[in-house]
Amino acid sequence: MKVPILELKPAYEELRPELDAAYRRVMESGWLLLGKELEAFESEYAASVGVKHCIGVANGLEAMQLLLMARGIGPGDEVIVPSHGYIATWLAVTHVGARPVPCEPDPQTYNLDPARIEPLITKRTKAILPIHLYGQTADMTAINAVAARHGLFVLEDAAQSHGARCHGREAGALGHAAGVSFYPSKNLGAMADAGAVTTNDDGLADKIRHLRNYGSKVRYQNDYLGMNSRLSELQAAFLRAKLPKLAEWNARRVKLAARYREKLGALTDLTLPSVAPWADPVWHLFVVRTAQRDALQRHLAAAGVGTQIHYPVPPHLSRAYAGAGGKRGDFPLAEKFADEVLSLPIGPHISAHQVDHVCDAVRAFFEKA
Ligand SMILES: *Cc1c(COP(=O)(O)O)cnc(C)c1O
Repeated sequence: MKVPILELKPAYEELRPELDAAYRRVMESGWLLLGKELEAFESEYAASVGVKHCIGVANGLEAMQLLLMARGIGPGDEVIVPSHGYIATWLAVTHVGARPVPCEPDPQTYNLDPARIEPLITKRTKAILPIHLYGQTADMTAINAVAARHGLFVLEDAAQSHGARCHGREAGALGHAAGVSFYPSKNLGAMADAGAVTTNDDGLADKIRHLRNYGSKVRYQNDYLGMNSRLSELQAAFLRAKLPKLAEWNARRVKLAARYREKLGALTDLTLPSVAPWADPVWHLFVVRTAQRDALQRHLAAAGVGTQIHYPVPPHLSRAYAGAGGKRGDFPLAEKFADEVLSLPIGPHISAHQVDHVCDAVRAFFEKA
């Protein structure tokens, strides 16, 4: 049996009539950018998250970058970001000219540890940018409390958490604003790059609508130094076709995560993901941890099981950030997790039978060791 880490075609097979109709609707309209499909998707997505505004943009990285720009965050400013996570979060900060200040994770949930934020705050700190990593929201109650004490802007990186909840409220509605990605492999994915900003802030929403389109809302009237970062009609139409399935697809992920937990819970050399009592994760990834990660990955590959590492190099040790002077030992938890994490296959089109095969292979590895 083969269990690939990710397959995108089954989503098309499940929604073929809807996706084909979306394609034809856009082609026949002859309107490809900033039209009715985008407007409809924006209001449907905003409603699903429970916020007033959704603004479609080109991708998740630019969603966060545009938000930082809109807040006037730039050179001389600092933004607190997770030391353990994807480099895009850091890049959004770097690209507006501000400095990412890494904060270590909670060792249980891998998300930004609220207790470690305060010592990092300086006169230059303008914002906190937590990721809801692997599909579980960060501890937003605690993060928002720190931010409120210091007058900081809270921007969520909600790229991995479509539909996830924190105390019953949706990711994307938990801070001042959020950047979302609809990269094809995300829980809600387009057929190419796509992203959005969600917020309840009218002024911020209006500014993002300008900034994504050359700083202009009225043609050839440019009010800000904007970017070109638009979500196309075609991608908006595909996303509209997929959005009604999101809850069901997330529920399938939740079931598979429970199955992994039940079948792997007894292994003492394997750390399973922990879920905070107030969190409803959507299992973008099912990430386990072991000191024997590389050997386990090879063993699983031989058994036909695809895995990935999210992420093997913490941003501070990447060549891209070499100029910032980061070195091994600076962020011990991020470094340890980079050496130990392994993502097992999970997704709406992975079967329980396939998960059983993965679990048998994982157990065989530890039992023979
Ligand atoms: C995917 C992802 C991004 C970037 O989204 P793009 O649409 O690829 O730019 C940012 N942050 C996290 C945590 C992600 O998983």
